[in-house]
Amino acid sequence: MTTEKRGTEVFGNFEVSEGRLKTRREVLLMGALAAGGAVMSSAAQAAPSVPQSAVSVAAFRPSQPVLAKDFNHLVSKPMEGLSPKQIEPHLKLYQGYVAKTNEIHNALNTVDLTTPAPNATYHPLRELLMEQSYALNGVVYHELYFGNLGGAGGMPTGDLANAIDASFGSMGKFMDFFKASGKCMRGWVIVGWNERDGQLRAYGLDLHNMWVPAKVVPVVVLDVYEHAYMIDYGINRGAYLDAFLKNVDWNVCNRRLEMAMKLGHAGPEATA
Ligand code: FE
Repeated sequence: MTTEKRGTEVFGNFEVSEGRLKTRREVLLMGALAAGGAVMSSAAQAAPSVPQSAVSVAAFRPSQPVLAKDFNHLVSKPMEGLSPKQIEPHLKLYQGYVAKTNEIHNALNTVDLTTPAPNATYHPLRELLMEQSYALNGVVYHELYFGNLGGAGGMPTGDLANAIDASFGSMGKFMDFFKASGKCMRGWVIVGWNERDGQLRAYGLDLHNMWVPAKVVPVVVLDVYEHAYMIDYGINRGAYLDAFLKNVDWNVCNRRLEMAMKLGHAGPEATA
């Protein structure tokens, strides 16, 4: 969401003014310096000075904010078994992860690296690094989840069907395994292309940032947090899994797999 104030545009934690993007912290800092009588040269304004007390901050360049994708078609064209009342708050939750990701990125830009001393038991940088993975995966997995909804369900075809046969033995065995996995996990089921062993495998997560191994490209993404189904199904997760499979877009999943396989480095060389 954007707001405007006299020649500037505020976007989340960023403000566009004088033709460039500034973090809100940067804007506030410049305002504070001006209010304190500090006189900045034009050169200093182009590269804002940092107060002496903050020389230990990370001070990265502001990154571009993460923007929420538009999945409103899942509401305007209701799915069978996944109502707009279920999807709408879920989309708001996703937008919250986008906002938190941007907030954490901004905080990483200004975190103090020396006071207190970096420490693996507690340090603001440690907390930011941990929650960065939670917030950003909250964004990415929801985009992959909503992105593979809105389809016609049925059965996968093409490369995806072949990879499922090769890895799981048959489509029936895959479906049984997928649904059972959906009942076992507390967060996500990810069917992904594992570049290290060149196979499609199922992985389970209890949180956004645990536990998908490295070198796995998500192909089918299923959200099994209670917020994904309780409005429509209460505690009947099995009915939700059936509804997901009625609306999954296998074409999207197939494209993801094709893109992953095109990288062409499946096998031990994937970790070279
Ligand atoms: Fe979710």
